[in-house]
Amino acid sequence: MRTSNFRVIPLKTEVVEAARRAAKSGAADHRVVVADSPRGYPCRHCLRWAKPGEQMILFPFATIPPGHPYSETGPIFVHEQPCERYTVTGEYPPDFRSGRVFRAYNSEYDMIDAKPADEAEPEAVVETLLENPRTAFVDARSADRGCYTFRIERI
Ligand SMILES: [Zn+2]
Repeated sequence: MRTSNFRVIPLKTEVVEAARRAAKSGAADHRVVVADSPRGYPCRHCLRWAKPGEQMILFPFATIPPGHPYSETGPIFVHEQPCERYTVTGEYPPDFRSGRVFRAYNSEYDMIDAKPADEAEPEAVVETLLENPRTAFVDARSADRGCYTFRIERI
């Protein structure tokens, strides 16, 4: 299903490449792990679940920049090997239709709303959050562990 009023923003490729360089150089806050389950290691760059056996980099990412009450840095995974950034930004990522919660933020980075994803139609939940004119962007996070998955912006 195509989205009507938003686009999906995967992690920037330069952020992923920096994480790969940091992991190679042995940075203490970057760890290479091997995916050992089919739905435990979401790559924030290609927006797919890692297949068991794939190497992933675990590192902290500032989803909300420092200097705000809602500033937040949290752990995310990306593929250790090069992967293609998610390009179908007009479509909700099929791998993450379930198990997500959406947080709406205003332009000051204040969290102003949050709703769990409806597996049948997560697009409708996102659109509802974006109907609030104060919503500047929406972050999709995992519903169980709370980790950042991807950002959504108005078109
Ligand atoms: Zn990937």
